[in-house]
Amino acid sequence: MDKWPIGVFTSVDAGLGVKLEVAHELGIPTIQLHAPAKETRNQENADRFLARLADLGIELTAVFGGFEGESYADIPTVSKTVGLVPPETRSARTQEMKEIADFAKMLKCKVVALHIGFVPHDTGDPLYAEVLGVTRDICDHCKTNDQSLNLETGQESAEGLLQFIRDVDRDNLFINFDPANMILYGTGEPIDALKKVGKYVRSIHCKDGKWSDKPGETWGQEVPLGEGDVGMENYLRTLQEIGYSGPLTIEREIPQEPERQKAEIGHAANLLTELKNKIG
Ligand code: MG
Repeated sequence: MDKWPIGVFTSVDAGLGVKLEVAHELGIPTIQLHAPAKETRNQENADRFLARLADLGIELTAVFGGFEGESYADIPTVSKTVGLVPPETRSARTQEMKEIADFAKMLKCKVVALHIGFVPHDTGDPLYAEVLGVTRDICDHCKTNDQSLNLETGQESAEGLLQFIRDVDRDNLFINFDPANMILYGTGEPIDALKKVGKYVRSIHCKDGKWSDKPGETWGQEVPLGEGDVGMENYLRTLQEIGYSGPLTIEREIPQEPERQKAEIGHAANLLTELKNKIG
């Protein structure tokens, strides 16, 4: 793969992300894929999807897990509903995440990623040890598939995430760095965070956002790439500094406005291409 190919976050029938056609129409050469619904995760659909990708000349670089019942409505709701942290759904979702990893294997994809949820900041909290346990379990399953597990950033500070990764203690656990999430969740200045966690970063999102007036309590605002507080040139320069050469995967979550979403992704791809030419 060339250095820093442009990418976009896509989905088939579940989760956020744009349709594959959008990547094709915009001439974007790589995608990350939100895992499709349980009933469609089979070898036949995987083969069909791979054939379409081959047809379009698009490369799949990561499969994201996601679960029914997750809601990103506001920060407390994320804490209650997202990932492997909520106790009521944890065991079923852990099982499902392994199935998603197996589906990624059918797609010949070696990177599986997810929002793990809000890991307790107090490492003495019994919940912390429980989340360590399920993360190890999923890492070990991914390992048998020769896959890495990349954690989406946002809910933890850089220090919290580093501590968690060290405590999980598995050599296939890495980071999908999303700079906008650091701002949206109010967990820290993204460029500083990227420098701190750099050695674990194996995939990234190109997304932008503005700080909330009450960081950590209320959401910041997701905005078109280049219009927020991340600072895209600085972001790419920092990626260069940490030695990241993988895809620049655009994520823009405004599913209610598909035309605007597509136009903004096209604009983001142009901006990233300009910055690549300038920096890369
Ligand atoms: Mg993201």
